[in-house]
Parts: sequence; C-alpha cells; structure tokens
Amino acid sequence: MTSSLRSLAIVIALALLSAGTAAQNTGRAWTIVGADLADGSGGALRRANVRFVGDRVVSVGAGAPQRGDNVVNGEGLVVAPGFIDIHNHSSGELTGDPAAATQVAQGITTVVLGPDGGSPWPIGEYLAERRSHPAAVNVAVFAGHATVRRLVMGDDFKRPARADEVARMAALVDQAMRDGAMGLSSGLEYEVGGYADTSELVELSKTAARHGGIYMSHIRDEADRSFEALREAIEIGERARIPVQISHIKLGTVSVWHKAAEAIAIVEAARKRGVDVTADEYPYNAWSSTITVLVPDKRYDYPPSVEKALADVGGAANVLIVRHAAHPEYEFRTLDAVATERKTTPVELFIQIVKDGGAGVVCTSMVDEDMRAFYTRPWVMVGSDGGIGTRHPRGAGTFPRVLGRYVRAERWLTLPDAIRKMTAAPAERLRLARRGRIAAGAIADIVLFDPKTVVDRSTFSDPAVLPTGIEKVFVSGELVWDGGKPVAARSGKVITRSER
Ligand SMILES: [Zn+2]
Repeated sequence: MTSSLRSLAIVIALALLSAGTAAQNTGRAWTIVGADLADGSGGALRRANVRFVGDRVVSVGAGAPQRGDNVVNGEGLVVAPGFIDIHNHSSGELTGDPAAATQVAQGITTVVLGPDGGSPWPIGEYLAERRSHPAAVNVAVFAGHATVRRLVMGDDFKRPARADEVARMAALVDQAMRDGAMGLSSGLEYEVGGYADTSELVELSKTAARHGGIYMSHIRDEADRSFEALREAIEIGERARIPVQISHIKLGTVSVWHKAAEAIAIVEAARKRGVDVTADEYPYNAWSSTITVLVPDKRYDYPPSVEKALADVGGAANVLIVRHAAHPEYEFRTLDAVATERKTTPVELFIQIVKDGGAGVVCTSMVDEDMRAFYTRPWVMVGSDGGIGTRHPRGAGTFPRVLGRYVRAERWLTLPDAIRKMTAAPAERLRLARRGRIAAGAIADIVLFDPKTVVDRSTFSDPAVLPTGIEKVFVSGELVWDGGKPVAARSGKVITRSER
C-alpha cells in the first residue's frame, strides 16, 4: 500500500468510526433485535429486527444492527407502532407535565386533543406553544364546537344559533382548520353544545370538510336515546360529506343494555351506503363522576326522579360511593349497601347525600357484552377518553388494559388486531400516512412491551397508578420511557393536516 492509499484508508476508517461514535453519542440510531413485530396492519406477528435512525424507520426484517447502533434485545417482547390516543383530555396538563408519564407508560406516543366540543383556543397559539415547549408525546388537536359557540354566543347559548352566528362560528372553524386542526369535535350531551340543532353542526362540519377534516362527536345521548343520537351523527356526516368519528361508543342505561347489535346495525348500514363512520371505545364498564349527574332533570330531591335515575343504571348496587366528606365511612361501599345498613331506602339516602354536600361516585352502567360487541367490529378503535390527571382509571390504564385483559385474559381480540385498533386505525382515520405502522420510511414512534405481563393497575380509588409491561417507548426515534421510568427527551411533535 502506498503512503497516499494508506492515509486515504485511515481517513475512511476514521470517518466510519466517527459516524458510528456520533450515532452512539446522540442516541440517534437504534436496532431492536429479535422482537415479535405487530406492524399495525393487523397481520400475524412475525420476528423482525427494526432499525431506526433519527426519526425514521430505515429497515424492518432480517437486517443486523450497524456499527454504532444502540441495540435493544427484544426477545420475548412485541414491537409495535406507538399508540395513538384519538380521544385525550391532556391539553391543559401538558404544560405542567410534559413528561406525561401516565400517557407514555401506556405506550401512547400521540395524543389527539380537543375532544367533546372543548378545545384550546386559538388553535394556532396553542400549537405554537406546544412547538416551543414540546412534550414527550406528539399532539394533534380538534377545534371544539362548544368553544367556538361560546366565543360567538357568550352566555346567551341556551338556544339554537341564528344564521349570522353560525356564519361567525364557521369563520372560527375555518381559522382553526387553517391553523392545523384535524377537524371539528362536539359534545352534545353537555351544557353549551347541547343547545345546537343538527343543521348548525352540519354547517360547521362543511367548513371542516372543505379542509379535509373530520367530525368527531360525543353524541347527544348515550342512554335511552342512544340510537337516535347515533342517527344524528350519521346524518351530519351525510349532509356535510365529512367522515364521522363516534367518541367513546357506549350504551349507558338499562333500556339499551344488550342492544349493541342494534347500534352496530345503524352504523354498518350507513357505512354500506358510503358514509365514512367509525368509533372509539374505552375499555371500562363504569364511569366516574359526581352523584348528581345521575339525575338528568337535575331534580335531586324529587324522589321519582331519583328513583328513575337509579333504575336507569341498574339499581343502587351499581353506584359505588368513592368520596363523601360528610360520611367518610360510606366510601367504597355501594349506595345499596349503605342504605340497607342504615335501614333507609337508596332514594332517601341519595337525597340526604346531596344535601350533605354530594359525593363522588363510580357507576357501573354499561355491560361487558356490549363493550365486547363494539370492540370486535373492525371500525371500532381504542381511545381513552382520559389523559393526564383524569379521575378515572382509563386515564392511566386504557391501552395496557386492552392488551392485558381483553387480549391476553379474555381473548376478545387477537394481539395484532388490538394493536391495529391502537395504531393504524386511528392514523388512517386522521389520514396520517407516516404514522401507525412500522415500515421503512415511517416515523419512528415505537413501543416495545411484554405481552405476557402488560396490564393496567389503575383503579377507581387510585386512578393514576402506572401500568406494567411497557418496556420502552420511542417518540420520533428518541427514548421517552425506559423500563418503568420516563426519560428526559421531549421529542413530541405537533401534528397537523399538512403532515399528510
Ligand atoms: Zn365525551
């Protein structure tokens, strides 16, 4: 070898070495070796090495780690796309808790904010703030119908909007869409949104549709009139020519229990005639709130109203008191049990509790049979309706709960199908072409978990307990969760429609 060739060889060797060292030092190249891949498609698990450099997956298959890669032994684990939570209430909390441990501990890499009609505002400013102060998770946001309604109508919202008001709301929705919102969300069981008529929602949805957005709705009723409410959401999709996402699909009162088939038939008939309607569902048969929400007509001291309210959720045995300052000895006992012990009726006890300052309750008002029927439809995905600080175990438990209980223990779903409902399904719904899959060129949002141990641990009395079994979580190729602890990276991005 001549001296010039020798020096060239040394230069090349040094260049290779420094490239390798650089990769190692910045943690920018990783290969996960020997894990079972659930790539998001729903196809069978297969053994594959996954290599990613920077924020992109570069190879999936037999490829060996390259020099300088961080190598992770994935044996016995499943590697999957990061979970996309299409219904998440963390918009206010990300500033104070950018590590978002309750979220990334579940394998969530993207939170979709602004559901149920309430969103941050202005959307452009909110997203700019998320860009300058990134969190560990990616964020996308919907424009809230109640938010724009309140901006236009002020306190005078307890009526249908006039045409000029709808036009002003539409201008706000238009601005939000230009700022990057994914669509319009509504919460029609709530105070502000509930006064809107169908055509107001159709008009605003048309604006969202013009920008390629979707309409996502907490529908007008999840109880006795569930089917009517489903039909309204579908009608909005049809008239505004917009894809529809039914939020947290459920049947929440006795009169509609065991009728999932009827709800499914309504949705599937619409899908058959070309309406693009899908849904998400949280994996719990109970909600958590204050005792007064049980009585929709708000006549808390009127025995017939209270009696109907208790009958609607299947009786006082389904109402667990979790917080009652006046009588802490009631806590974690059912309304039924306390009434029996005190030799009174559940109705009288309810009225007394409200007089004594009210109570926090957990109400078991859905049946597993319906929950299962929905989950087994291909158009139903997993969404938490939770988020940071949620006082319901779904806020810290949703995704591991599906994997541990409804895949591993109950076998409602196969593992690849459950992963599809957490990844590719919501990504397709939001038309995010580079997320929700593990394939060369995809963005490296990745979760590595143990399918034998993954499970939720959050409970109604302790809703923020973190799950187990989620080993590593990467967002944009950076490690944000490692072996039970958050890591310092804040690599979450703002996702807008322009990413498509
Ligand atoms: Zn909701």
